[in-house]
Amino acid sequence: MNINDAPSNPILGKEIEDFLKINKIQTPTSGGVELSEDDRIFAIEYYMKEALKVLGLDFTHTSMQHVPHRLSCMFVCEKFWGLLPDNFPNIEIIKTDTCQPFTVENVEILTYCDQHLMPIRGQATIAYSTKNCKEKLYLPTASIHRMVEYFCKRPQDIRNMTSQIEASLRYILKTEDVAVFVNAKYSCMRTKVLSTHRDSLNCIKTSGIFNDLSAIETQVFMRMLEKL
Ligand SMILES: [Zn+2]
Repeated sequence: MNINDAPSNPILGKEIEDFLKINKIQTPTSGGVELSEDDRIFAIEYYMKEALKVLGLDFTHTSMQHVPHRLSCMFVCEKFWGLLPDNFPNIEIIKTDTCQPFTVENVEILTYCDQHLMPIRGQATIAYSTKNCKEKLYLPTASIHRMVEYFCKRPQDIRNMTSQIEASLRYILKTEDVAVFVNAKYSCMRTKVLSTHRDSLNCIKTSGIFNDLSAIETQVFMRMLEKL
């Protein structure tokens, strides 16, 4: 999805960013995020061209001449728009009467490692409960997918991303009972170790009633939820 494809909710995005800072799990950013979209595209294109020239690429060649602009637009508008709280999606939050736990599985993870900017692909399973909440709130599946996509659109350590998703769900749903399980593969590890076994990572972040389970039990529990 592109940055311009869906409406956003900057107020909720700012609130969540503040909540991530309180929990010390925010994504570190520089003042670059304060610049306008056009200014960032222009600046990245300029520095990208200089960097690729140093690498030895010839931009007078037809196939190369648009590469800096293409990369710049890709970084700002496609891959890393989740660095800006203003782009937090305008998700739907619904009141409910049910106390049953909600689960959403097979949520696509496509993000980029914060060390090599290479793709990390996987799936997330998310569970939460409104049982102990005064105000019982529910997020439609599409809203969860959009929220997860927002956190994927920043260079990430997958463990921190799992924590960011879990904390954001706690904030939005006003519940302390959330579990997030992510299984993901790092393409950078695959290219280095040439193994399909050592590039996969499982991350679990739990709170509230889900904390009563040990890590292994939680993993088994999440697997069971996946099959419901
Ligand atoms: Zn990496």
